[in-house]
Amino acid sequence: MEILFATANHNKVVEIAGKLGDDFKIITPAELGYGEDIPETHETIRENAIEKAQFIWDKFHKTCFADDTGLEVDVLEGAPGVYSARYAGLPKNPAQNVVKLLKELDGVLFENRTARFRCVIALIEDGVLHTFEGICEGHISLEPMGELGFGYDPVFVPEGMERTMATMTLDEKNAISHRGKAVEKLVEYLKANRK
Ligand code: IMP
Repeated sequence: MEILFATANHNKVVEIAGKLGDDFKIITPAELGYGEDIPETHETIRENAIEKAQFIWDKFHKTCFADDTGLEVDVLEGAPGVYSARYAGLPKNPAQNVVKLLKELDGVLFENRTARFRCVIALIEDGVLHTFEGICEGHISLEPMGELGFGYDPVFVPEGMERTMATMTLDEKNAISHRGKAVEKLVEYLKANRK
């Protein structure tokens, strides 16, 4: 089955393709000639995921999904949350986002740096919307560690682990990550409702 993923983020495509397996082939808006930004203008992760999927559905009328992710840090009252991508301002800069986060948490003990990634996938099939959520609990590390992954991975230590997501292979991250969990629910739905 061919499925359109409303993203321009290559890292997300690689992660989700690794999890979807051979039964599904991901195509991107860029492959269909759309290389512009996909709008995300809302105040919640769920609404942004829906907005991105709806935008691409309206353009192509092809089964499509979008993911939106936020990092919620408890001592920062849930920030950066829906603003995770532009935490350090615009244009978006993942490295500066990490620098700002570590600065905001300066002096906070590891045990108090609890956080979670929340990922919502919005799927639109035959014009009908379905959403799937995945959460990964953890802590923000005291300093960046690892070169793999993207975004906040160098400072996110998943629960029960002693190293950041940026030290994990694709399969290791996919097995425990917010996105991996949301994709598992998506796959379960697609397989159960195969046309
Ligand atoms: P968005 O879902 O592309 O809007 O991402 C929001 C922000 O979270 C961006 O700064 C991403 O780099 C970051 N982000 C999204 N997914 C992940 C992830 O799996 N690990 C680390 N950072 C992520």
